[in-house]
Amino acid sequence: MIDIMGEGGRRRTFAVISHPDAGKSTMTEALALHASAITQAGAVHGKAGRRGVTSDWMEIERSRGISITSAALRFDYRGHVFNLVDTPGHADFSEDTYRVLAAVDCAVMLIDAAKGMEPQTMKLFEVCRHRRIPVITFVNKWDRPGRDALELLDEIEDRTRLRPTPVTWPIGAAGHFHGVIDRPAGRAVRYERTPGGATKALTRELTDEQALAELGEDWRRAGEETALLAAIGADHDQKAFEAHESTPVLFGAALPNFGVARLLDTMVELAPPPAPRPDVHDTPRALDAPFSGLVFKVQANMDRAHRDRIAFVRVCSGRFERGMVLTHAATGRPFATKYAQSVFGQDRTTLDEAYPGDVVGLVNAGALRPGDTLFDGPPVTYPPIPSFAPEHFAVARGRDSGKSKQFRRGIDQLDAEGVIQVLRSDLRGDQAPVLAAVGPMQFEVVQHRMAAEFGAEISLDRLDYTLARRTDAASAPALDRERGCEVLTRSGDQAMLAVFTDQWRMRTIARDQPGLTLEPLIADT
Ligand code: GDP
Repeated sequence: MIDIMGEGGRRRTFAVISHPDAGKSTMTEALALHASAITQAGAVHGKAGRRGVTSDWMEIERSRGISITSAALRFDYRGHVFNLVDTPGHADFSEDTYRVLAAVDCAVMLIDAAKGMEPQTMKLFEVCRHRRIPVITFVNKWDRPGRDALELLDEIEDRTRLRPTPVTWPIGAAGHFHGVIDRPAGRAVRYERTPGGATKALTRELTDEQALAELGEDWRRAGEETALLAAIGADHDQKAFEAHESTPVLFGAALPNFGVARLLDTMVELAPPPAPRPDVHDTPRALDAPFSGLVFKVQANMDRAHRDRIAFVRVCSGRFERGMVLTHAATGRPFATKYAQSVFGQDRTTLDEAYPGDVVGLVNAGALRPGDTLFDGPPVTYPPIPSFAPEHFAVARGRDSGKSKQFRRGIDQLDAEGVIQVLRSDLRGDQAPVLAAVGPMQFEVVQHRMAAEFGAEISLDRLDYTLARRTDAASAPALDRERGCEVLTRSGDQAMLAVFTDQWRMRTIARDQPGLTLEPLIADT
Protein backbone atom coordinates (compact mmCIF):
# COMPACT_ATOMS: atom_id res chain seq x y z
CA MET A 1 0.00 0.00 0.00
CA ILE A 2 1.28 3.41 -0.89
CA ASP A 3 0.64 5.79 1.94
CA ILE A 4 0.17 9.12 0.18
CA MET A 5 -1.09 10.89 3.28
CA GLY A 6 1.92 9.66 5.24
CA GLU A 7 4.35 10.64 2.49
CA GLY A 8 2.75 14.09 2.16
CA GLY A 9 2.81 14.53 5.94
CA ARG A 10 6.56 14.14 6.07
CA ARG A 11 7.20 16.74 3.37
CA ARG A 12 8.34 20.25 4.22
CA THR A 13 8.41 22.42 1.12
CA PHE A 14 9.83 25.87 1.64
CA ALA A 15 11.79 28.78 0.21
CA VAL A 16 14.29 31.16 1.77
CA ILE A 17 13.31 34.79 1.27
CA SER A 18 16.05 37.34 1.76
CA HIS A 19 17.94 40.30 0.39
CA PRO A 20 21.18 39.64 -1.51
CA ASP A 21 24.11 39.01 0.85
CA ALA A 22 21.98 38.10 3.84
CA GLY A 23 23.43 34.60 3.56
CA LYS A 24 20.96 32.54 1.52
CA SER A 25 23.62 30.50 -0.28
CA THR A 26 25.52 29.95 2.94
CA MET A 27 22.31 28.88 4.66
CA THR A 28 21.41 26.53 1.80
CA GLU A 29 24.76 24.85 2.13
CA ALA A 30 24.47 24.66 5.90
CA LEU A 31 21.00 23.13 5.72
CA ALA A 32 22.05 20.58 3.17
CA LEU A 33 25.14 19.76 5.18
CA HIS A 34 23.08 18.97 8.25
CA ALA A 35 20.77 16.88 6.22
CA SER A 36 23.66 15.16 4.46
CA ALA A 37 22.25 15.88 1.02
CA ILE A 38 25.74 16.94 0.06
CA THR A 39 28.98 16.22 1.79
CA GLN A 40 31.05 19.16 0.83
CA ALA A 41 30.40 22.81 1.41
CA GLY A 42 30.25 24.68 -1.86
CA ALA A 43 28.64 21.92 -3.84
CA VAL A 44 25.34 23.73 -4.18
CA HIS A 45 26.72 27.23 -4.17
CA GLY A 46 26.99 27.38 -7.91
CA LYS A 47 28.50 30.85 -8.15
CA ALA A 48 32.01 29.69 -8.84
CA GLY A 49 33.47 26.65 -10.49
CA ARG A 50 30.33 25.63 -12.34
CA ARG A 51 30.57 22.59 -14.42
CA GLY A 52 28.41 20.83 -16.91
CA VAL A 53 26.19 21.79 -19.78
CA THR A 54 26.98 24.67 -22.03
CA SER A 55 23.93 26.48 -23.19
CA ASP A 56 22.59 29.85 -24.11
CA TRP A 57 21.86 30.40 -20.47
CA MET A 58 25.36 29.54 -19.52
CA GLU A 59 26.68 32.30 -21.73
CA ILE A 60 24.65 34.85 -19.85
CA GLU A 61 25.50 33.20 -16.59
CA ARG A 62 29.19 33.11 -17.28
CA SER A 63 29.40 36.67 -18.48
CA ARG A 64 27.63 37.89 -15.35
CA GLY A 65 28.72 35.31 -12.84
CA ILE A 66 25.24 34.57 -11.66
CA SER A 67 22.96 31.61 -11.53
CA ILE A 68 19.82 31.41 -13.61
CA THR A 69 19.29 27.71 -13.50
CA SER A 70 17.86 26.76 -10.21
CA ALA A 71 14.93 24.87 -8.90
CA ALA A 72 14.69 22.74 -5.82
CA LEU A 73 17.01 20.94 -3.47
CA ARG A 74 15.68 17.86 -1.78
CA PHE A 75 17.10 16.42 1.41
CA ASP A 76 16.14 14.18 4.30
CA TYR A 77 16.17 15.18 7.94
CA ARG A 78 14.74 13.35 10.95
CA GLY A 79 12.55 11.15 8.82
CA HIS A 80 11.21 14.13 6.88
CA VAL A 81 11.74 15.08 3.27
CA PHE A 82 12.63 18.73 2.76
CA ASN A 83 12.21 20.49 -0.57
CA LEU A 84 14.00 23.81 -0.67
CA VAL A 85 12.74 25.75 -3.66
CA ASP A 86 15.24 28.33 -4.82
CA THR A 87 14.34 32.00 -5.11
CA PRO A 88 16.78 33.59 -7.59
CA GLY A 89 17.78 36.83 -6.00
CA HIS A 90 20.77 38.79 -7.20
CA ALA A 91 20.84 40.39 -10.63
CA ASP A 92 18.67 37.49 -11.76
CA PHE A 93 15.77 38.69 -9.64
CA SER A 94 12.74 38.21 -11.86
CA GLU A 95 9.11 37.19 -11.84
CA ASP A 96 10.30 33.64 -11.26
CA THR A 97 11.53 34.74 -7.87
CA TYR A 98 7.97 35.57 -6.90
CA ARG A 99 6.33 32.70 -8.78
CA VAL A 100 8.25 30.00 -6.97
CA LEU A 101 6.42 31.03 -3.82
CA ALA A 102 3.31 29.45 -5.38
CA ALA A 103 5.08 26.13 -4.87
CA VAL A 104 5.90 26.31 -1.16
CA ASP A 105 4.04 25.71 2.10
CA CYS A 106 6.31 27.81 4.26
CA ALA A 107 9.02 30.47 3.95
CA VAL A 108 12.16 31.11 5.95
CA MET A 109 12.80 34.83 6.11
CA LEU A 110 16.52 35.28 6.45
CA ILE A 111 17.61 38.61 7.92
CA ASP A 112 21.10 40.03 8.31
CA ALA A 113 21.49 40.93 12.00
CA ALA A 114 23.22 44.18 11.11
CA LYS A 115 20.77 45.25 8.42
CA GLY A 116 17.34 44.14 9.52
CA MET A 117 14.47 44.16 7.03
CA GLU A 118 15.82 45.02 3.56
CA PRO A 119 13.89 45.89 0.36
CA GLN A 120 14.00 42.56 -1.46
CA THR A 121 13.05 40.72 1.71
CA MET A 122 10.04 43.00 2.02
CA LYS A 123 8.96 42.41 -1.57
CA LEU A 124 9.12 38.65 -1.17
CA PHE A 125 7.42 38.94 2.18
CA GLU A 126 4.53 40.79 0.53
CA VAL A 127 4.01 37.83 -1.80
CA CYS A 128 3.97 35.51 1.24
CA ARG A 129 1.41 37.77 2.87
CA HIS A 130 -0.74 37.71 -0.25
CA ARG A 131 -0.58 33.92 -0.45
CA ARG A 132 -0.81 33.58 3.34
CA ILE A 133 2.34 31.50 3.49
CA PRO A 134 3.52 31.02 7.08
CA VAL A 135 6.93 32.61 7.71
CA ILE A 136 9.71 31.50 10.05
CA THR A 137 12.29 34.21 10.69
CA PHE A 138 16.00 33.46 11.03
CA VAL A 139 18.21 36.33 12.17
CA ASN A 140 21.54 35.50 10.56
CA LYS A 141 25.16 36.58 11.13
CA TRP A 142 24.76 36.93 14.89
CA ASP A 143 28.47 36.10 15.09
CA ARG A 144 29.15 39.57 13.68
CA PRO A 145 28.46 42.97 15.18
CA GLY A 146 24.88 43.93 14.52
CA ARG A 147 21.74 45.38 16.02
CA ASP A 148 20.11 44.83 19.35
CA ALA A 149 17.88 41.73 19.43
CA LEU A 150 14.82 43.44 20.93
CA GLU A 151 15.16 46.30 18.48
CA LEU A 152 15.20 43.79 15.60
CA LEU A 153 12.03 42.19 16.91
CA ASP A 154 10.37 45.61 16.89
CA GLU A 155 11.44 46.20 13.33
CA ILE A 156 10.18 42.80 12.20
CA GLU A 157 6.83 43.51 13.84
CA ASP A 158 6.60 47.03 12.41
CA ARG A 159 7.42 46.03 8.88
CA THR A 160 5.63 42.69 8.57
CA ARG A 161 2.78 43.24 11.03
CA LEU A 162 3.46 39.70 12.25
CA ARG A 163 3.92 39.12 15.97
CA PRO A 164 7.46 37.79 16.50
CA THR A 165 7.57 34.78 18.82
CA PRO A 166 11.21 33.85 19.45
CA VAL A 167 12.00 30.14 19.57
CA THR A 168 15.61 30.85 20.49
CA TRP A 169 17.10 33.92 22.07
CA PRO A 170 20.78 34.84 21.73
CA ILE A 171 23.17 34.71 24.64
CA GLY A 172 25.58 37.54 23.95
CA ALA A 173 25.08 40.60 21.78
CA ALA A 174 25.64 40.37 18.03
CA GLY A 175 29.35 39.76 17.55
CA HIS A 176 29.61 37.94 20.91
CA PHE A 177 27.53 34.91 20.11
CA HIS A 178 27.92 32.25 22.79
CA GLY A 179 24.72 30.34 22.29
CA VAL A 180 20.98 30.62 22.72
CA ILE A 181 18.27 30.11 25.25
CA ASP A 182 15.99 27.52 23.69
CA ARG A 183 12.64 28.82 24.94
CA PRO A 184 10.40 25.76 24.33
CA ALA A 185 13.04 23.47 25.82
CA GLY A 186 13.74 25.90 28.68
CA ARG A 187 17.49 25.49 28.56
CA ALA A 188 20.67 27.15 27.42
CA VAL A 189 22.62 25.77 24.48
CA ARG A 190 26.21 26.72 23.84
CA TYR A 191 27.61 26.93 20.31
CA GLU A 192 31.23 26.28 19.58
CA ARG A 193 33.03 26.63 16.32
CA THR A 194 34.58 23.57 14.84
CA PRO A 195 37.83 23.92 13.00
CA GLY A 196 37.50 24.03 9.24
CA GLY A 197 34.59 26.39 8.83
CA ALA A 198 31.28 25.26 7.47
CA THR A 199 31.03 21.88 9.07
CA LYS A 200 28.49 21.09 11.72
CA ALA A 201 28.84 23.26 14.81
CA LEU A 202 29.29 21.75 18.25
CA THR A 203 26.34 22.36 20.49
CA ARG A 204 26.37 21.69 24.18
CA GLU A 205 23.42 21.90 26.54
CA LEU A 206 24.19 23.78 29.72
CA THR A 207 22.64 23.53 33.15
CA ASP A 208 21.84 26.87 34.82
CA GLU A 209 24.94 26.51 36.98
CA GLN A 210 27.16 25.86 33.97
CA ALA A 211 25.60 28.71 32.02
CA LEU A 212 26.18 31.12 34.89
CA ALA A 213 29.75 29.94 35.37
CA GLU A 214 30.65 30.00 31.68
CA LEU A 215 28.63 32.89 30.33
CA GLY A 216 27.95 35.02 33.39
CA GLU A 217 26.49 38.43 32.58
CA ASP A 218 25.51 37.54 28.99
CA TRP A 219 23.49 34.61 30.22
CA ARG A 220 21.84 36.67 32.95
CA ARG A 221 20.87 39.34 30.47
CA ALA A 222 19.44 36.82 28.00
CA GLY A 223 17.44 35.40 30.91
CA GLU A 224 16.00 38.82 31.71
CA GLU A 225 15.10 39.39 28.09
CA THR A 226 13.35 36.03 27.72
CA ALA A 227 11.43 36.77 30.93
CA LEU A 228 10.33 40.00 29.28
CA LEU A 229 9.27 38.09 26.14
CA ALA A 230 7.20 35.72 28.28
CA ALA A 231 5.64 38.68 30.09
CA ILE A 232 4.51 40.31 26.85
CA GLY A 233 3.16 36.98 25.59
CA ALA A 234 5.61 36.56 22.70
CA ASP A 235 5.03 32.82 22.73
CA HIS A 236 4.43 30.53 19.81
CA ASP A 237 0.83 29.90 18.82
CA GLN A 238 0.49 27.40 15.98
CA LYS A 239 -2.86 28.77 14.78
CA ALA A 240 -1.59 32.34 14.64
CA PHE A 241 1.55 31.18 12.82
CA GLU A 242 -0.43 29.23 10.21
CA ALA A 243 -2.85 32.14 9.83
CA HIS A 244 0.07 34.41 8.97
CA GLU A 245 -0.33 36.45 12.14
CA SER A 246 2.85 35.54 13.97
CA THR A 247 6.35 34.41 13.06
CA PRO A 248 8.64 32.17 15.08
CA VAL A 249 12.09 33.77 15.28
CA LEU A 250 15.47 32.05 15.60
CA PHE A 251 18.88 33.61 16.06
CA GLY A 252 21.92 32.06 14.47
CA ALA A 253 24.79 32.24 12.07
CA ALA A 254 24.78 30.16 8.92
CA LEU A 255 28.51 30.45 8.28
CA PRO A 256 29.73 28.74 11.46
CA ASN A 257 26.54 26.68 11.37
CA PHE A 258 25.05 28.04 14.59
CA GLY A 259 21.34 27.43 14.96
CA VAL A 260 20.89 25.71 11.62
CA ALA A 261 19.91 22.35 13.11
CA ARG A 262 17.47 24.20 15.37
CA LEU A 263 15.92 25.75 12.26
CA LEU A 264 15.46 22.30 10.72
CA ASP A 265 13.93 21.04 13.98
CA THR A 266 11.59 24.02 14.00
CA MET A 267 10.55 23.21 10.43
CA VAL A 268 9.86 19.59 11.41
CA GLU A 269 7.82 20.68 14.41
CA LEU A 270 6.01 23.78 13.17
CA ALA A 271 6.11 24.17 9.39
CA PRO A 272 2.90 22.94 7.79
CA PRO A 273 3.02 19.87 5.54
CA PRO A 274 1.29 20.06 2.15
CA ALA A 275 -2.44 20.74 2.45
CA PRO A 276 -5.23 20.07 -0.07
CA ARG A 277 -4.89 22.80 -2.69
CA PRO A 278 -8.01 24.73 -3.73
CA ASP A 279 -8.78 24.63 -7.46
CA VAL A 280 -10.26 27.44 -9.58
CA HIS A 281 -13.69 26.77 -8.03
CA ASP A 282 -12.13 26.95 -4.57
CA THR A 283 -12.70 23.21 -4.05
CA PRO A 284 -9.63 21.63 -2.46
CA ARG A 285 -8.25 18.49 -4.09
CA ALA A 286 -7.53 15.83 -1.47
CA LEU A 287 -3.86 14.94 -1.06
CA ASP A 288 -4.63 11.30 -1.80
CA ALA A 289 -6.66 12.09 -4.93
CA PRO A 290 -4.95 11.05 -8.20
CA PHE A 291 -1.89 13.02 -9.23
CA SER A 292 -2.11 16.75 -9.84
CA GLY A 293 0.64 19.32 -10.04
CA LEU A 294 1.22 23.01 -10.60
CA VAL A 295 3.85 24.30 -13.05
CA PHE A 296 5.54 27.16 -11.20
CA LYS A 297 8.53 27.81 -13.42
CA VAL A 298 9.63 27.05 -16.96
CA GLN A 299 13.29 27.15 -17.82
CA ALA A 300 13.99 27.42 -21.51
CA ASN A 301 17.03 26.41 -23.50
CA MET A 302 19.11 24.92 -20.77
CA ASP A 303 20.68 22.81 -23.44
CA ARG A 304 21.05 24.43 -26.83
CA ALA A 305 21.48 21.13 -28.65
CA HIS A 306 18.04 20.00 -27.58
CA ARG A 307 16.29 23.33 -27.34
CA ASP A 308 14.74 21.74 -24.33
CA ARG A 309 12.48 23.36 -21.90
CA ILE A 310 12.15 22.19 -18.34
CA ALA A 311 8.93 22.75 -16.47
CA PHE A 312 9.15 22.61 -12.70
CA VAL A 313 6.06 21.10 -11.20
CA ARG A 314 5.01 21.09 -7.58
CA VAL A 315 3.13 17.93 -6.76
CA CYS A 316 -0.19 18.93 -5.20
CA SER A 317 -1.94 15.57 -4.89
CA GLY A 318 -1.34 11.89 -5.45
CA ARG A 319 1.76 10.00 -6.42
CA PHE A 320 3.89 10.95 -9.38
CA GLU A 321 5.51 8.12 -11.22
CA ARG A 322 7.94 8.62 -14.07
CA GLY A 323 6.38 7.50 -17.32
CA MET A 324 2.86 8.55 -16.40
CA VAL A 325 0.87 10.20 -19.13
CA LEU A 326 -0.81 13.23 -17.65
CA THR A 327 -3.34 15.71 -18.97
CA HIS A 328 -2.39 19.34 -19.50
CA ALA A 329 -5.44 21.18 -18.12
CA ALA A 330 -5.03 24.27 -20.33
CA THR A 331 -5.20 22.35 -23.62
CA GLY A 332 -6.64 18.96 -22.67
CA ARG A 333 -3.66 17.37 -24.42
CA PRO A 334 -1.71 14.44 -23.03
CA PHE A 335 1.75 15.05 -21.59
CA ALA A 336 4.20 12.17 -21.33
CA THR A 337 6.59 12.24 -18.37
CA LYS A 338 9.23 9.86 -19.55
CA TYR A 339 11.96 12.27 -18.59
CA ALA A 340 11.31 13.44 -15.09
CA GLN A 341 14.17 14.91 -13.16
CA SER A 342 14.94 16.44 -9.88
CA VAL A 343 17.11 19.43 -10.60
CA PHE A 344 19.17 21.83 -8.61
CA GLY A 345 21.71 24.01 -10.30
CA GLN A 346 23.38 21.92 -12.93
CA ASP A 347 22.97 18.63 -11.14
CA ARG A 348 20.22 16.53 -12.57
CA THR A 349 19.16 13.17 -11.32
CA THR A 350 16.36 11.12 -12.72
CA LEU A 351 13.36 11.02 -10.50
CA ASP A 352 11.13 7.98 -10.40
CA GLU A 353 8.42 8.94 -7.99
CA ALA A 354 7.27 11.94 -6.06
CA TYR A 355 4.62 12.85 -3.51
CA PRO A 356 2.71 15.98 -2.50
CA GLY A 357 5.19 18.74 -1.72
CA ASP A 358 7.90 17.41 -4.03
CA VAL A 359 9.21 19.25 -7.07
CA VAL A 360 9.56 17.45 -10.39
CA GLY A 361 11.42 18.80 -13.42
CA LEU A 362 9.84 17.76 -16.71
CA VAL A 363 11.85 18.08 -19.90
CA ASN A 364 10.45 18.65 -23.40
CA ALA A 365 7.91 20.88 -21.76
CA GLY A 366 7.51 23.40 -24.59
CA ALA A 367 3.75 23.51 -24.17
CA LEU A 368 3.75 24.18 -20.43
CA ARG A 369 3.54 27.64 -18.85
CA PRO A 370 3.96 28.86 -15.30
CA GLY A 371 0.61 28.48 -13.56
CA ASP A 372 -0.51 25.48 -15.66
CA THR A 373 -1.99 22.38 -14.11
CA LEU A 374 -1.17 18.75 -14.97
CA PHE A 375 -3.37 15.96 -13.69
CA ASP A 376 -4.23 12.31 -13.79
CA GLY A 377 -7.76 11.00 -13.18
CA PRO A 378 -10.51 13.50 -12.38
CA PRO A 379 -9.74 16.84 -14.05
CA VAL A 380 -8.57 19.77 -11.97
CA THR A 381 -7.32 23.27 -12.73
CA TYR A 382 -5.52 25.33 -10.14
CA PRO A 383 -5.79 29.12 -10.12
CA PRO A 384 -3.19 30.85 -12.29
CA ILE A 385 -0.19 32.48 -10.65
CA PRO A 386 -0.84 36.22 -10.69
CA SER A 387 1.44 38.72 -12.40
CA PHE A 388 3.49 40.89 -10.10
CA ALA A 389 4.18 44.57 -9.86
CA PRO A 390 6.78 45.46 -12.50
CA GLU A 391 9.45 48.04 -11.72
CA HIS A 392 11.41 48.17 -14.98
CA PHE A 393 9.99 49.25 -18.32
CA ALA A 394 11.34 49.39 -21.87
CA VAL A 395 9.95 49.85 -25.36
CA ALA A 396 10.83 46.96 -27.67
CA ARG A 397 11.22 47.46 -31.42
CA GLY A 398 12.31 45.05 -34.12
CA ARG A 399 15.62 46.08 -35.68
CA ASP A 400 14.56 44.73 -39.05
CA SER A 401 11.21 46.10 -40.20
CA GLY A 402 10.93 43.21 -42.67
CA LYS A 403 10.60 40.83 -39.75
CA SER A 404 7.52 42.21 -38.07
CA LYS A 405 5.85 38.82 -38.15
CA GLN A 406 8.73 37.16 -36.31
CA PHE A 407 8.78 40.07 -33.89
CA ARG A 408 5.11 39.71 -33.10
CA ARG A 409 5.31 35.94 -32.73
CA GLY A 410 8.33 36.11 -30.43
CA ILE A 411 6.85 38.78 -28.18
CA ASP A 412 3.56 36.87 -27.93
CA GLN A 413 5.37 33.64 -27.12
CA LEU A 414 7.57 35.17 -24.41
CA ASP A 415 4.52 36.90 -23.00
CA ALA A 416 2.61 33.61 -22.85
CA GLU A 417 5.56 31.90 -21.20
CA GLY A 418 5.63 34.55 -18.52
CA VAL A 419 9.18 35.61 -19.36
CA ILE A 420 8.11 39.24 -19.44
CA GLN A 421 4.92 41.27 -19.12
CA VAL A 422 3.79 42.95 -22.33
CA LEU A 423 1.93 46.24 -22.06
CA ARG A 424 0.23 47.90 -24.98
CA SER A 425 -1.66 51.03 -25.83
CA ASP A 426 -3.29 52.38 -29.00
CA LEU A 427 -0.91 55.28 -28.88
CA ARG A 428 2.23 53.15 -28.96
CA GLY A 429 0.92 50.60 -31.42
CA ASP A 430 1.72 46.95 -31.92
CA GLN A 431 5.25 47.30 -33.23
CA ALA A 432 6.47 49.12 -30.13
CA PRO A 433 5.04 47.38 -27.07
CA VAL A 434 6.26 48.22 -23.59
CA LEU A 435 7.97 45.32 -21.84
CA ALA A 436 7.63 45.33 -18.08
CA ALA A 437 9.82 43.39 -15.69
CA VAL A 438 10.33 42.77 -12.01
CA GLY A 439 14.11 42.59 -12.52
CA PRO A 440 16.22 44.02 -15.37
CA MET A 441 17.71 40.62 -16.15
CA GLN A 442 14.42 39.70 -17.79
CA PHE A 443 15.16 42.22 -20.58
CA GLU A 444 18.44 40.53 -21.40
CA VAL A 445 16.73 37.18 -21.59
CA VAL A 446 14.07 38.57 -23.94
CA GLN A 447 16.64 40.23 -26.18
CA HIS A 448 18.66 37.07 -26.35
CA ARG A 449 15.74 34.75 -27.05
CA MET A 450 14.14 37.05 -29.62
CA ALA A 451 17.30 36.93 -31.69
CA ALA A 452 18.27 33.30 -31.08
CA GLU A 453 14.87 31.64 -31.31
CA PHE A 454 12.68 33.91 -33.36
CA GLY A 455 15.21 35.52 -35.67
CA ALA A 456 14.06 38.96 -34.60
CA GLU A 457 16.74 41.20 -33.16
CA ILE A 458 15.27 43.88 -31.00
CA SER A 459 16.32 47.18 -29.55
CA LEU A 460 15.14 48.20 -26.13
CA ASP A 461 14.66 51.78 -25.00
CA ARG A 462 14.36 52.04 -21.27
CA LEU A 463 11.53 54.18 -19.98
CA ASP A 464 11.94 56.04 -16.75
CA TYR A 465 8.86 54.57 -15.09
CA THR A 466 9.47 52.72 -11.84
CA LEU A 467 6.08 51.68 -10.55
CA ALA A 468 2.66 50.54 -11.65
CA ARG A 469 -0.82 50.64 -10.16
CA ARG A 470 -3.97 48.92 -11.29
CA THR A 471 -6.50 51.36 -12.68
CA ASP A 472 -9.67 51.26 -14.80
CA ALA A 473 -11.24 52.73 -17.92
CA ALA A 474 -12.96 55.50 -15.96
CA SER A 475 -9.69 56.81 -14.52
CA ALA A 476 -7.57 56.30 -17.64
CA PRO A 477 -8.26 59.56 -19.52
CA ALA A 478 -7.41 61.73 -16.50
CA LEU A 479 -4.22 59.76 -15.85
CA ASP A 480 -3.13 59.94 -19.48
CA ARG A 481 -3.26 63.72 -19.31
CA GLU A 482 -0.72 63.79 -16.48
CA ARG A 483 3.00 64.17 -16.91
CA GLY A 484 5.16 61.25 -15.72
CA CYS A 485 2.29 58.83 -16.06
CA GLU A 486 0.80 56.62 -18.76
CA VAL A 487 -1.95 54.02 -18.93
CA LEU A 488 -1.23 50.69 -20.62
CA THR A 489 -3.06 47.39 -20.93
CA ARG A 490 -1.27 44.23 -19.85
CA SER A 491 -1.88 41.62 -22.50
CA GLY A 492 -1.70 38.61 -20.16
CA ASP A 493 -4.74 39.47 -18.05
CA GLN A 494 -6.03 42.61 -19.81
CA ALA A 495 -5.44 44.56 -16.61
CA MET A 496 -5.15 48.33 -17.06
CA LEU A 497 -1.99 49.56 -15.45
CA ALA A 498 -1.04 53.14 -14.76
CA VAL A 499 2.74 53.49 -14.73
CA PHE A 500 4.57 56.33 -12.98
CA THR A 501 8.07 57.74 -12.93
CA ASP A 502 8.20 57.67 -9.13
CA GLN A 503 6.25 57.41 -5.90
CA TRP A 504 6.14 61.14 -5.51
CA ARG A 505 4.43 61.64 -8.89
CA MET A 506 1.93 58.90 -8.14
CA ARG A 507 1.09 60.32 -4.73
CA THR A 508 0.73 63.84 -6.07
CA ILE A 509 -1.67 62.71 -8.78
CA ALA A 510 -3.64 60.58 -6.31
CA ARG A 511 -3.86 63.50 -3.87
CA ASP A 512 -4.92 66.02 -6.50
CA GLN A 513 -7.56 63.72 -7.98
CA PRO A 514 -8.83 61.61 -5.11
CA GLY A 515 -11.47 59.83 -7.21
CA LEU A 516 -8.96 57.92 -9.36
CA THR A 517 -8.63 54.16 -9.10
CA LEU A 518 -5.02 53.33 -8.21
CA GLU A 519 -4.62 49.98 -6.52
CA PRO A 520 -1.34 48.39 -5.51
CA LEU A 521 -0.31 45.26 -7.40
CA ILE A 522 1.05 42.19 -5.66
CA ALA A 523 4.57 42.60 -4.29
CA ASP A 524 4.24 46.37 -4.06
CA THR A 525 5.61 47.72 -0.86
P1 GDP B 1 23.40 35.45 -0.46
O1 GDP B 1 23.70 36.57 -1.38
O2 GDP B 1 22.21 35.74 0.40
O3 GDP B 1 23.36 34.10 -1.08
O4 GDP B 1 24.60 35.48 0.61
P2 GDP B 1 25.89 34.55 0.76
O5 GDP B 1 25.49 33.24 1.34
O6 GDP B 1 26.65 34.55 -0.50
O7 GDP B 1 26.63 35.35 1.91
C1 GDP B 1 27.08 36.68 1.75
C2 GDP B 1 28.30 36.90 2.61
O8 GDP B 1 27.97 36.81 3.98
C3 GDP B 1 29.38 35.85 2.35
O9 GDP B 1 30.62 36.48 2.43
C4 GDP B 1 29.19 34.88 3.51
O10 GDP B 1 30.37 34.21 3.85
C5 GDP B 1 28.75 35.81 4.62
N1 GDP B 1 27.92 35.14 5.61
C6 GDP B 1 26.81 34.41 5.41
N2 GDP B 1 26.32 33.97 6.58
C7 GDP B 1 27.14 34.41 7.54
C8 GDP B 1 27.17 34.27 8.97
O11 GDP B 1 26.33 33.65 9.60
N3 GDP B 1 28.19 34.90 9.61
C9 GDP B 1 29.15 35.62 8.97
N4 GDP B 1 30.11 36.18 9.69
N5 GDP B 1 29.16 35.75 7.63
C10 GDP B 1 28.16 35.16 6.93
